[in-house]
Amino acid sequence: MSRHTTITGGSMFDAIGGRFVPNPGIVLDGGVIAQVGDVGQRGELIDATGKTVIPGLMNLHGHLAWDGFSDLEGQSRHDGPMLYVKLARGLISAVEAGVTTFRDLGGVHDTGLVARQAQRDGLIAGPKVLTCGRAICRTGGHIWYGNRVADGPDDVRKATREQIRDGADWIKLMAHAYTLEELRACVEQAHEQGVPVTTDAGVWAANAVEAGVDCIEHGGDYDDALVERIRERGVWIVPTLSPVVLQARNGHAWGLKQSVIDRRNAQLADKGRHEGLVRARKAGVRFAFGTDSGSPVVPHDAILAEMQQLLEFGVFEREAEVLQAATIRGAELIGQEERTGSLEAGKAADVVLLAGDLAADLSVIERVERVWVDGRPMVVDGAARRPDPRDFRTFSNVGA
Ligand SMILES: [Zn+2]
Repeated sequence: MSRHTTITGGSMFDAIGGRFVPNPGIVLDGGVIAQVGDVGQRGELIDATGKTVIPGLMNLHGHLAWDGFSDLEGQSRHDGPMLYVKLARGLISAVEAGVTTFRDLGGVHDTGLVARQAQRDGLIAGPKVLTCGRAICRTGGHIWYGNRVADGPDDVRKATREQIRDGADWIKLMAHAYTLEELRACVEQAHEQGVPVTTDAGVWAANAVEAGVDCIEHGGDYDDALVERIRERGVWIVPTLSPVVLQARNGHAWGLKQSVIDRRNAQLADKGRHEGLVRARKAGVRFAFGTDSGSPVVPHDAILAEMQQLLEFGVFEREAEVLQAATIRGAELIGQEERTGSLEAGKAADVVLLAGDLAADLSVIERVERVWVDGRPMVVDGAARRPDPRDFRTFSNVGA
């Protein structure tokens, strides 16, 4: 169904150039951006005077099955079907925050795959989802209760094949305490089948990079030699500072244990902890954006805190660089820079309208007024709306 929308006025974020420019007009035609420039009105006209149009945001690290306000192990092991209700809530929250692409890096069993399908089928408003299926970890490893547990190179290889068979877009490997041989088995298998690998590496990052992973989550305190290897091999970093920041800031109100809050405050105060990220960035390592939403005290609509902290730590110097990380760089990480991540004719109509001047005030990122995902209006007047079934279904998939 072809449907035109023209957005004119205000400013727009040029993700390629990393700057704000006046918005001469953007025409959305069905699922794509048909035209950017001095356009006549076509279809519905939206006056963006005083507002900002940006490409849809990419939250490339999150967990839709987790609600952001419950203990991970408790909800993973005991919530059963309730996890699928949480997925729905997570999808809505994410898209209401302007997220049009979400990389789910592990939930419980098949939750990431279900979220992806529910969004594709138009059952619920939400961003496009990429998923790792189940994350892979060793027996007793990090978040073992939701993961595919695998030990030894053969089992790790099999676990990798299983995720790809089930439709994983990425492999998420909990590198913690895996041997180099086990890490290599995963990466070799995934790459043989054309699927990239990311890892929650922590202090095992050196091994993970050696094994050939494509991306590292959370970052860490890397020395110069490791930074150089990360850069040389073209490995991406998604820093995810939000759990530390938001647990320190809001943990008390959300009922988090004082000992956890104290630890998070100490981590925030320890600048050395984040110097590795700053060094990596300055050395030319590529960064994308992710909040680790679904983690305790990190709801799926919390975007601003991550952006502010990246600037505060000096990982990025300019606000425009953070916005690039959250748009075009993200698209590059997932190999979709030809089809999304910036406001250019021919790209997918993943577009967000913010009610204010983002160039003047970064917190305007929270004033999401409208969101289109593949041209489908998912958020109107700041609230998610039910997708129109006619945008998703044709009678070719309904028995006559
Ligand atoms: Zn995570």
